Amino acid sequence: PKSFAILTSGGDCSGMNPAVRAAVRYGIAKGCNVYGIYEGYQGLVDGGKYIRKMDWKSVRGWLSVGGTSIGTARCMAFKTREGRLSAAENLVKHGIDSLIVCGGDGSLTGADVFRSEWGSLIAELLSTDRITDQQAKTFSHLTIVGMVGSIDNDMASTDITIGAASCLHRVCEMVDSIGTTASSHSRAFVIEVMGRDCGWVAMMAAIATGADFVFIPEQPLAAGEWQEAICDVAHRHREMGKRKTVIIVAEGALDSSLNPVKSEDIKNILTERLGLDTRVTILGHIQRGGTPCAFDRILATTQSVAAVEAVLQSTPDMPSPFIGYVNNKVTSGPLMDAVALTHQVADAIHKKEFDRAMQLRDPQFRQ
Ligand code: ATP
Repeated sequence: PKSFAILTSGGDCSGMNPAVRAAVRYGIAKGCNVYGIYEGYQGLVDGGKYIRKMDWKSVRGWLSVGGTSIGTARCMAFKTREGRLSAAENLVKHGIDSLIVCGGDGSLTGADVFRSEWGSLIAELLSTDRITDQQAKTFSHLTIVGMVGSIDNDMASTDITIGAASCLHRVCEMVDSIGTTASSHSRAFVIEVMGRDCGWVAMMAAIATGADFVFIPEQPLAAGEWQEAICDVAHRHREMGKRKTVIIVAEGALDSSLNPVKSEDIKNILTERLGLDTRVTILGHIQRGGTPCAFDRILATTQSVAAVEAVLQSTPDMPSPFIGYVNNKVTSGPLMDAVALTHQVADAIHKKEFDRAMQLRDPQFRQ
């Protein structure tokens, strides 16, 4: 039977467990041996107890559990050839020739690097007697399938990533909670949300909660002018009788000169210019935790089924597939095209090509 493994890597998110569960159970239903690799690439490099054969019961109850129960890690060793050599040896020794990786763009890049040098890793393992001739022949090709688990929704070639919707739900709950106390005390709140260099969580949370203002990296306001803009809006809304002011800031928010827009600076402006009693709340890791929302459970499940199908259908001449979700359908396309397109957003922001950055983000922002 076919043997494949699944691992989760990079920052965790709600929905990784449903993804692992579905890959394990669909794989078993298709007659495969399915392995879970614990602690991300570190487990792959270290082998032994970190590579475990999964059975139907191993993933019982995982649909509603946040985070990733097989663990995740950032692994420096996997960035080295020595580390990847050890990873290859561990896969061969377990009879695994296919790997599903659920992580961010860094994890998926690492997976593709691993696949592209697989031939030379196998040759080196053979020449140093770490594997047999027969193993080298049987494991001449590695299949990689990528799917994205990220609260940031920062991946191109997919409308939404596993975990982003759950994160957004959590942020909305928190902003709503802050809203009631803000109204009671007639206060202003600057709420900073995660998202790295992507403004999706901030933007969607602002729409979903009716925030007064939002700062995102892809559409920076003119340096030296945003101060006036927020005061105008806050003042206008107060004049209309609003008793609270809520400003949402993406952690990667920038002005047009690419200076970070800091929550404390916004607070000082509102305090000094409008005399508002202003507080800063940084939501932090609370956005990552908690039970996955229904959408993420379904997204993770349907994408994992597609990932297992991709494992079963893959041939050595095909590029590594990337499982996405576009226009309400699970999709499959070349993994490295998706990664390259994702890097173009950061490049566009860096070059101050903000319209282009927004255009590249368009599928995420309009889904
Ligand atoms: P997040 O979006 O949550 O940050 P990510 O997958 O982008 O997730 P990274 O820290 O960039 O997170 O990558 C996770 C792991 O993937 C790294 O610790 C490393 O082990 C592996 N990795 C990343 N880039 C490479 C690379 N170029 N070559 C080999 N391995 C890599």
